[in-house]
Amino acid sequence: MKQFFGQVASEGIGIGVVLNLSKNTSLAKENAENSLNNEFQMALYLRAKEIVNSRLSTLYNQTLDNLGQEMAKIVLFEQFLLEDDEFDGKIQQHIADGKTAQEAIKETQNSLYETFKTLKDSYLAERIAEIADLSTQLENSINGDYQMFNLSENTVIIATDVAVSQLLTFDKPKICGIVTTKGSLTTHTSIIAQTAGIPLLIQVDNDILNTENGTKIAIDTFSKSAIVQPTDYQVNTILQKIKETSEEKLNQERFRGCKTQTKDGFDIRLYANIGSVEDAKMAYNADTEGVGLLRSEFLFINRNDYPSEEEQYNTYWQIVQELHFKPLIIRTIDIGTDKNADYFNLPTETNPALGYRAIRICLDRPQLFENQLRAIYRAAQTAYKQKEHNPIAIMFPMIVACWEVEKCLQFCQNIENELNINFKVAKGIMIETPAAVLIANDLAKMVDFFSVGSNDLAQYILAIDRQCGNHLEKYVDFEHPALLKALKMTAQAAIENNIWCGICGELATYPNLTEFLIREGYTEFSVNYHKILKMREIINNITRFPA
Ligand code: PEP
Ligand code: MG
Repeated sequence: MKQFFGQVASEGIGIGVVLNLSKNTSLAKENAENSLNNEFQMALYLRAKEIVNSRLSTLYNQTLDNLGQEMAKIVLFEQFLLEDDEFDGKIQQHIADGKTAQEAIKETQNSLYETFKTLKDSYLAERIAEIADLSTQLENSINGDYQMFNLSENTVIIATDVAVSQLLTFDKPKICGIVTTKGSLTTHTSIIAQTAGIPLLIQVDNDILNTENGTKIAIDTFSKSAIVQPTDYQVNTILQKIKETSEEKLNQERFRGCKTQTKDGFDIRLYANIGSVEDAKMAYNADTEGVGLLRSEFLFINRNDYPSEEEQYNTYWQIVQELHFKPLIIRTIDIGTDKNADYFNLPTETNPALGYRAIRICLDRPQLFENQLRAIYRAAQTAYKQKEHNPIAIMFPMIVACWEVEKCLQFCQNIENELNINFKVAKGIMIETPAAVLIANDLAKMVDFFSVGSNDLAQYILAIDRQCGNHLEKYVDFEHPALLKALKMTAQAAIENNIWCGICGELATYPNLTEFLIREGYTEFSVNYHKILKMREIINNITRFPA
């Protein structure tokens, strides 16, 4: 028996068997065993090359349409490089000489790097970034093979970290726990684990990576620990806890179907955060009153190309139906940082959280933005035709300036004109940057609602990267006076301008602050749907204006 302690990123208890991603999956094992097998390594490389090549062809057309010829040339250069003797030829030569596919790519990249660095021609010297990008794409395609797992029931995943795209591809009902040595509380990996109800323990000692596949393991976030080869006594204690938790859940059922209302009679809207049609169904069954945040970017992850307008329309319309026409706030794509898709071809950045993401990308790529907005408006139109009621509102992420909102609203106006929209579609923004808080009074005059993205807001106000490891965790303080002041200022600006203000970051379920938020005037809480009934119980016990 060995017990490991960590931080709780998603609550829960589970008992299962280990799948250690850092050790050997069948393919990784096959690759390791075949590291000296030239034919295997060559086949691995050629397949990766084919995947990347087809991705680049699609990307070339998209870039030409959206960003023009100059940008498209960059893609063309990568395609050229992929067939060039100095790149492709050298990689194949290295593999033939006995290197693994990954080593061959790295070596070729490094030697080309050196050559290009000394070039007088500045155009060519600047192509170093494309060499790096192409190499990363090839390596990712090779690594992508390792993500294809056939999970057995009750799997507990052990890894250094699990990427968002990887977690999205797993058959989640089969996972009863995840234990990682890295990770952070408000990353999207943690958020997806919470949404899926999977216990996640992060920042556990590296020693856990030595655990063999198939070993019995228990994960219990109430004791913040994972127990490898638990004793019979420990197993029984954990089974007892599982029973108690389900009893507690049963007890919360008293709040199903009730109003969410403070003791002194103020209505609060209790909504759910979702990322898919499946989530919408689960959220409805969890008794949500609506959706306060559809992370629409999840529809763009784990694919090779953008979803078409038609595909998006179908998804949004399906979500409306799964929610039985309850309110649905669709956030336009917030791609970037830990939510990535290769085909977006985003630049590699030193500080991606401060970089090219969310609305910045949408405003730069009009076709992408218009397609999404048109799909949203069409779903709203279909709903309106059926029920004379539009449940959909639109929300823009990562706003820092009024001019961004002006542009977003102009995009909306154009689509409204184009589709002859004759009903109201509310538009709101996420308040998740310090800049937005400081100009909240101006922003409130432009939109119908605010929703605080406390995950990002906390990272920017406290200067703590959401992806940080345990060395920074002690600085994460959700009750920091600066954060409380920002929450207060945002609500005040909303109230003064007669718009409503909600919160959809993880802070919405942080129990120490529920009373504070309600008293400051937050009227909408959008939370993980597993917590709907629990939050209703908490809110219904709060007095907004104590005597
Ligand atoms: C947030 O930042 O709090 C938020 C809700 O958005 P996301 O977590 O998707 O960045
Ligand atoms: Mg955010």
